[in-house]
Amino acid sequence: MKIMVAIKRVVDYAVKIRVKPDKTGVETHNVKMSMNPFCEIALEEALRIKESGLATEVVAVSMGPAQCVDTLRTGLAMGADRGIHVEAARELYPLTVARVLKRLVEVENPGLLILGKQAIDDDCNQTGQMVAGLLGWPQGTFASKVVLDKEKQIATVDREVDGGLETLCLDLPAVITTDLRLNQPRYATLPNIMKAKSKPIKKYTPEELNVEIKSDLEVVQVTEPPKRKAGVILSSVDELIDKLKNEAHVV
Ligand code: AMP
Repeated sequence: MKIMVAIKRVVDYAVKIRVKPDKTGVETHNVKMSMNPFCEIALEEALRIKESGLATEVVAVSMGPAQCVDTLRTGLAMGADRGIHVEAARELYPLTVARVLKRLVEVENPGLLILGKQAIDDDCNQTGQMVAGLLGWPQGTFASKVVLDKEKQIATVDREVDGGLETLCLDLPAVITTDLRLNQPRYATLPNIMKAKSKPIKKYTPEELNVEIKSDLEVVQVTEPPKRKAGVILSSVDELIDKLKNEAHVV
């Protein structure tokens, strides 16, 4: 069985985000970019499934500008067998990404498609659900445990839901999106970084996949959250109660 993993290139989680002066988006120029952390977890899970003998190949897919190849190389250094880059200069929104993924699934025919539960740049949390809908495949979102049964061709997925854990049984092929506690992604070792340089990355344009890059949503404005006021240290409980009563008016 082949596993396809969607990995997105995003602003690194440790970077302090700056909004562009014209409020059209966030600054990405000269900013460290990395693989979306939930996508690292998705790739790690695919690699563990392959290492346990339940899959034969892991294919990493990334869509966006030419620099996505760097993200794919990181994925190849972690252990993916090959990469697919769908080059698109403009920003892609979840429905377009889902349409491209659907076409790639038709070309590649994987038994499992694993995505991050959300990208930390747009926080959309939509792509996995949309591609499952477009493919008509079952979906296990926010997975914190995945167990495959090759003979029965099912995946048992524990999902993190508000009240605790929900366990689902999905017929394969299926879509899974990963939550934080699913696993701890590995670091790429130096020898594997070197090996990754010779692993293949296939390039497609959206036109070659017959997907029109159009968006049915428009970002009107991006603004910074209001600055938090500085806190004050109070000297006694009485002072706190006085402030809650007479300033905050909450008691
Ligand atoms: P989102 O719905 O935007 O929060 O993204 C959820 C997941 O969809 C990500 O964690 C990725 O697995 C996948 N994804 C979204 N955009 C891309 C992209 N441009 N390239 C590859 N995967 C993507």
